[in-house]
Amino acid sequence: MSYAPSTAAGKQTAQQLADISRTLYARGWMPGTSGNISMRLPDDPGRALITASGRDKGELTARDVVEVDALTGRASPPGQDRPSAETSIHAAVYRVTEARAVIHVHSPYATVVAHRAASPDTVSSVRVDRFELLKGLGLKDPTVTELPVFPNWPQVERIADDVAARLAVDREGPPGLLLADHGITTWGDSLGQAKSRLECLESLCQLLVLSRSELHVSRA
Ligand SMILES: [Zn+2]
Repeated sequence: MSYAPSTAAGKQTAQQLADISRTLYARGWMPGTSGNISMRLPDDPGRALITASGRDKGELTARDVVEVDALTGRASPPGQDRPSAETSIHAAVYRVTEARAVIHVHSPYATVVAHRAASPDTVSSVRVDRFELLKGLGLKDPTVTELPVFPNWPQVERIADDVAARLAVDREGPPGLLLADHGITTWGDSLGQAKSRLECLESLCQLLVLSRSELHVSRA
């Protein structure tokens, strides 16, 4: 059943998700049906809208979203379309950060870094330093950050548990993370901020790939 918002805020949020999906698809960052985007409802932040599972992101409309509990990711009310398979990762970010919006895409340079810096079964991190674009991430120290790379477990719940555990102890880390061999997730106070941080991180990953033959990777 496609999404039929009961409030003006719901309608506006759904439209924003559809618009940004089409924009990121056009850049080649959401090939096929990949990627997922969510935003807490401004008038009811315990709930969020997220893109529905299996939709072509280049053709997404405001009806192709699902209303979920922001902290559990469970669809509510039931009877809607299936939410994205990766909803539990969004819920993990909402539980442990102040984020109001989360974006996950398969942008090419972030995915290459997530491939090169991956560890088979532990969370690793890749150092990003010196580049001016770090200032776009809102870090306390805008000269260096450690971007975490999570194992891409087949069970998405397990990834979500890893993400929640890491973000709970690493409060000053970057507003984004990589999934090994998979893609990137970013978040922010608004959809615009999450998108801007995504653009900075994708560009930073591009600069790393182009400027360094060896990435500086820490493996636990
Ligand atoms: Zn993905």
